[in-house]
Amino acid sequence: TARIVDGRALAARLRSQYAIRVRDLQDMGAQPPGLAVILVGDDPASAVYVRNKIRACEATGIRSIALRLPGSISNAELLGRIVELNADEAVHGILVQLPLPPQIDLPRVLETIAVEKDVDGFHLYNVGGLVTGSTVFSPCTPYGVVKLLEAENLAIEGQNVVVVGASNIVGKPMALMLMARDATVAICHAKTRDLAQFTMLADILVVAAGVPGLIVPQMVKTGAVVIDVGINRLPNGRITGDVDFEGVAQKASLITPVPGGVGPMTVTMLLENTIASAERAAARRRR
Ligand code: NAD
Repeated sequence: TARIVDGRALAARLRSQYAIRVRDLQDMGAQPPGLAVILVGDDPASAVYVRNKIRACEATGIRSIALRLPGSISNAELLGRIVELNADEAVHGILVQLPLPPQIDLPRVLETIAVEKDVDGFHLYNVGGLVTGSTVFSPCTPYGVVKLLEAENLAIEGQNVVVVGASNIVGKPMALMLMARDATVAICHAKTRDLAQFTMLADILVVAAGVPGLIVPQMVKTGAVVIDVGINRLPNGRITGDVDFEGVAQKASLITPVPGGVGPMTVTMLLENTIASAERAAARRRR
């Protein structure tokens, strides 16, 4: 049966290393890393995500600034706030919590965030950099998966990887990041015919579809590494992934649980990106 990855423990280990990097920055007389989190409107799920991100920052010594803006805010006003944050030297990362209300031009918002502060990795420069290898920041969820694979000492080069899900924030960047590490990658999505035909080939199967129970044991190769990115709330309130965990764990060599697998790594990579940004800013000042 599969080894179960403890994403919480790995995240905690990384975060204690980050706390040291934050102290080192301060010992050098540099600014503490600063993250600005913009929350527009009062979507309850978004509020929870923002609260978690801010808590994680505080625990690591990152200064966080939460901007809670009304759901009625105009596009121009929101862009103006981002421009201000771009110029603020205490701010090393700018994150706009999605989704945004309909009057907001999301592509404009993402393109307005300064590339060197785009810790979510959603600016077109960073997106394009995933293709060419010149990314400043990698998007947090797929970056967390890569870190997790590395921490488990799993080979990526030459492996057959199948990514189920092709969104801009998870599936597509995931595929590109693993391709950059010389995996052979296939991407499947809702229109894929006979999903199992592909998943069966995977040495590493990454699932980010948002469909509980999508991946059953018959679809998984014996000994595969199965990474479940899905976070789904069942009618009974329980949180579950996209993989039939009990069944697939009998067949896989390694599996991530939900909750407690990939989830804790996502916010951890936000911290990593913010600290890296502050370190780069400090290095620029020294030059
Ligand atoms: P999305 O809805 O934007 O994209 C889902 C993708 O899955 C699409 O490409 C769609 O074509 C594909 N898909 C849907 N049904 C499918 C099916 N039956 N077979 C094959 N492919 C199918 O979702 P997203 O934002 O990419 O998120 C995916 C899942 O990951 C969600 O459950 C989300 O909650 C979760 N998520 C987790 C984290 C984390 O931190 N662990 C972060 C982001 C998203």
